[in-house]
Amino acid sequence: MKTKYLLPLFAFAWLAETALAADGIPARGYAMFAKDGQFQPYEFQRHAVGDNDVLIEILYSGICHSDIHMVRGDWSPARYPMVPGHEIAGRVTQVGKNVTKFRVGDTAGVGCMVNSCGVCDQCKAGQEQYCEKGATLTYASRDQRHGGEITQGGYSDKIVVTESFAIKIPEKAELDKVAPLLCAGVTTYSPLRFTKVGPGDEVAVAGFGGLGHMALQYAVSFGAKVTVFDITENKRADALKLGAVRYVNVNNPDELKGLNGKFRVILSTIPANYDPMLYLRMLQQDGEMVVLGLPAAKDAPSLNILALAFTPRRKIYGSQIGGIRETQEALNYSVEHRLYPQVEIIPIQKLDEAYARVVSGDVKFRYVIDMKSLK
Ligand code: NDP
Ligand code: ZN
Repeated sequence: MKTKYLLPLFAFAWLAETALAADGIPARGYAMFAKDGQFQPYEFQRHAVGDNDVLIEILYSGICHSDIHMVRGDWSPARYPMVPGHEIAGRVTQVGKNVTKFRVGDTAGVGCMVNSCGVCDQCKAGQEQYCEKGATLTYASRDQRHGGEITQGGYSDKIVVTESFAIKIPEKAELDKVAPLLCAGVTTYSPLRFTKVGPGDEVAVAGFGGLGHMALQYAVSFGAKVTVFDITENKRADALKLGAVRYVNVNNPDELKGLNGKFRVILSTIPANYDPMLYLRMLQQDGEMVVLGLPAAKDAPSLNILALAFTPRRKIYGSQIGGIRETQEALNYSVEHRLYPQVEIIPIQKLDEAYARVVSGDVKFRYVIDMKSLK
């Protein structure tokens, strides 16, 4: 194409972008700018509040281990600047004219997704996380519905989201503890429902961190007998207090004795390298191991197919978060049964320290940022 045609095209694109920015809403947060960088204050634009959107003032934002994987590019190259955060709790401050689910002043949450195609079979079945075109994630994701803008997450003062992807938070909820339910909660609730865990079932939870301690609480409340596996002594008392019948420090081989063939369902939330066969052998025949933990690509465990074949009829599959309907269900269930994460509230200026402590296992059990600290 000749330059004389290109110039008006560029001018149009620039004008369109400027118009969009002018309509947008200024937001502030903390972003990561490079793989081994540190968090820094960052100002950016949220898209304008559309007819079906709500504007949420963010009050609390949880720190998920996935945020750490994401800023480090553990799974795929990272997009910087990146404002992580997909465990968001706040208050609605503006609604579009078609919005019926929320009113100004309501408490609302946002989890891992902000939209999806809405028409594929998965979306229609309420499983937007498995959208055939790919759901738009809350941050570092290309938003098809907003001109391909890159989404930015919850370590910030506000977010604009279509009402159908915002979750209602009951007024009686403990707001400073509710944010992690939007990811750690639903991610563990969903496979426990899918596998129909119920009274008397032998269930194991491998990895007892943010996700793991929610998995334990849900499984116990569904009536299961739950065994917890982790690599430290420090969490033994917490696991037993939250209702585990057994705690196994996998670094102590004696504690693993006698457990083969024991469990009907095992949830693995382990974020690092491990041997999946260790757990598959502990499944009952026809038992299921659900993989939730997402180790960095360089640390991803592999499965010995021969060993698997010699451990017949044990199932293993992955599971990702939950759909919007199920996220709402998980949140309502948690609030109703007072199943909350144990949280440590931090100011946003402590993000780098919090990340280091999650990686070294020094957190019980979820850091939550108090967004007042951003002001
Ligand atoms: P945390 O760091 O809070 O918890 C992980 C726990 O696993 C820690 O207690 C850790 O111990 C323990 N652990 C580490 N290595 C082992 C091992 N070899 N055996 C047993 N336990 C081990 O992380 P989160 O709970 O926030 O997240 C866990 C994983 O789940 C991450 O990879 C995250 O990306 C993924 N995730 C997946 C989702 C999905 O949809 N599938 C959704 C959200 C998160 P220690 O603390 O002592 O190191
Ligand atoms: Zn998460």
